[in-house]
Amino acid sequence: MTAFGIDLGTTNSCIAYIDKEGRPVVVKNANWEYTTPSVLYFDRRETVLIGREAKKAALRAPHLAVQLFKRHMGHEGVEFPFHGERYTPASLAALILKDLAAAAERQLGEPVRDVVITVPAYFGVAEREATRQAGRIAGLNVLDVLDEPVAAALSYQDQTSPEGVRHLLVYDLGGGTFDTTVIRVDGGDVKVICTGGDRDLGGAQWDLRIRDFLINAFVTRHPGLDPTADEKFMQEVWVNAEELKEQLSGVRTRACTLQFAGQTARVEMSRQQLEDLTADLLDRTLDITQATIAKARAKGVPDFDEVLLVGGTTRMPAVEDRLKRLLDRPLRRHEPDLAVARGAALFALIRQVQGGVRRPDISEEHAETIRSRQVTTVLSRGFGVMVLDDRDPRAMTDPVRARKFVVHLLPAGTALPADTGPVSFGTAIDNQPAIEVEVWEQSGPESSEELADNTLIGHGKLRDLPPKLPRGSRIEITFFLSETGLLTVEAREPQSGQQVRFDLKIGGLDQAAVDLARTSVARHDISS
Ligand code: AMP
Repeated sequence: MTAFGIDLGTTNSCIAYIDKEGRPVVVKNANWEYTTPSVLYFDRRETVLIGREAKKAALRAPHLAVQLFKRHMGHEGVEFPFHGERYTPASLAALILKDLAAAAERQLGEPVRDVVITVPAYFGVAEREATRQAGRIAGLNVLDVLDEPVAAALSYQDQTSPEGVRHLLVYDLGGGTFDTTVIRVDGGDVKVICTGGDRDLGGAQWDLRIRDFLINAFVTRHPGLDPTADEKFMQEVWVNAEELKEQLSGVRTRACTLQFAGQTARVEMSRQQLEDLTADLLDRTLDITQATIAKARAKGVPDFDEVLLVGGTTRMPAVEDRLKRLLDRPLRRHEPDLAVARGAALFALIRQVQGGVRRPDISEEHAETIRSRQVTTVLSRGFGVMVLDDRDPRAMTDPVRARKFVVHLLPAGTALPADTGPVSFGTAIDNQPAIEVEVWEQSGPESSEELADNTLIGHGKLRDLPPKLPRGSRIEITFFLSETGLLTVEAREPQSGQQVRFDLKIGGLDQAAVDLARTSVARHDISS
C-alpha cells in the first residue's frame, strides 16, 4: 500500500508519494496545481470549497471563509462557526487533508490511508496531537508527524546525494511561519542539531504591511472615505497586497487599483519601498537564524556547509541578499513549495518499511537500505515538572501560595528517543500522603523556569506514600520520550516502591470526539 507525505501548510498544502522507481512524486489537485491554498469557504451547510476557488469566493463573502487557522492548531477552545456548525482547527485541517487525499486517490486509483503529516519544528505536543487528530478525523492512518525542516533536508539529500557528513542550515520562511534549523546529513541519515522559529512570522506579515500602505494611499487620495470597516474591501486589498508582494520579487515597481464607494486609486509601490516597510520582519528572521547558529555552535557544530531555502517567501530577493551577506555560504533554493511534501513521502516510506510493512513494489535490497536509515529529531521545547521553591518561607506554612517553578528534565534540543533516568526530588511537607506530578512544556523559544513561560500539559498522582515521611524525602521522577514524541512519566517513592506511571495526557479530543468530528467532516461535500 502506497504511503503518502502531506505538507499541511499555513498558506498552502501539498501531497506526495514515492513511485515504483523510488522517486517522490507530487500529486496535482483538481485545478492541475501542485499546491492547494489552505483556504476553506463554507458555501452552504456541509458544502465546502477548498483551495484557489475558496480564495476567490472569499473575496465575495469573507465571513464564509477561513485561512491561516493552522496558527490555532492545538489551542483549546478555538472554534470557527459557519452555518450553525462549529469547526475546530483540527476539523478544518481534516477537510483539507480529505481534499488532498481525494486528489491522490483520483491520480493513483487506490485509497489513501497511511500518511505522514509535517509540522513546524517548534510545534509543541498539543499542536502535534491536534495534527494527528486532524488526520484521524479525515479517516487517515497517521504513521507519524515530521518536522518540516527535516522533510526538506530528506528531499534535498534524496535529490543531491551529498557525499560524507554535511551540515545544512534550513531557512524556512513560509506564508505564516518561520523556522530555521541546523541539520546534519550523513549518507542516508538525517539528524537535527537544533532549531528555532517564530510561529507568527511569515509572508502574511509582509502582506499586512503592504495592505496598510495601500489603504493609507487610498485614504490620502480620498480623505472623506473610510473603507476599513468594509470586509470585502479589506479582503480585496489583502489579495492585492499578496499579489503585489509576489510580483515585486520579479520587477522593481508595480501598481494596483483600489476601488471603494465608486472611487478609485491607482497605487504604485517599488521593491525598495516594500523592503523599507518590512525591514524589521526580515531582521527578526536573521536574529533567530543567528541564535540558532549560536546554539549549534554550543552543541559542537561550529560551522555549516550550505543554506537550504524553503518556503514561498524566500523568493523575495531581499531574503537572498541579506542571507548571502550575513552567512557567506552557498544558498540552495530547492523547490521551496514542494520539498516538504516530497521529504514527508520519503519518510512515510521509511516509517512503513521500518514498521514491518512489506511493500511488494520494493526490492528486498532497497528495503534493507531503508531499514538502516536513521532520522533523528530533537525536542523543540523542554519538558519538566513543577516544583515548590523551598527558599520561599511560605513553602512550609502555606505551600499553596508559595512560589513554584518548572525544572526541565528534558531541555529543548534533546535528541529523541530520550530517557532521563530517575531524577531525585523531595517531598514538600512532613507526612505528605500523595504527590501530584504536573508536567509542563516550555511555551516560548527560550527556556525559563517561570510557570508563566510554560504550559501545563498533563499530570498524574503518586498516592499512598508511606506514613510519617519527613519533608524532603526522596521521590524519583523519570521522563521517557519516544521517537514519535510520546512522553511517559514515572514517579516513584524508593522506600516503599510505590510508583505511578502515566503516558502524557494532553488536551485534545478523545476517541469519541474524534469519531464525532469524523462523522461531521464526512458529511461535507468538498470541492476544489
Ligand atoms: P508557503 O507557506 O511555503 O507555501 O509560502 C507561501 C507564501 O509565500 C505566501 O505568503 C506567498 O505570498 C509567498 N510567496 C510565494 N511566491 C512568492 C514570491 N515570488 N515572492 C514573494 N513571496 C512569495
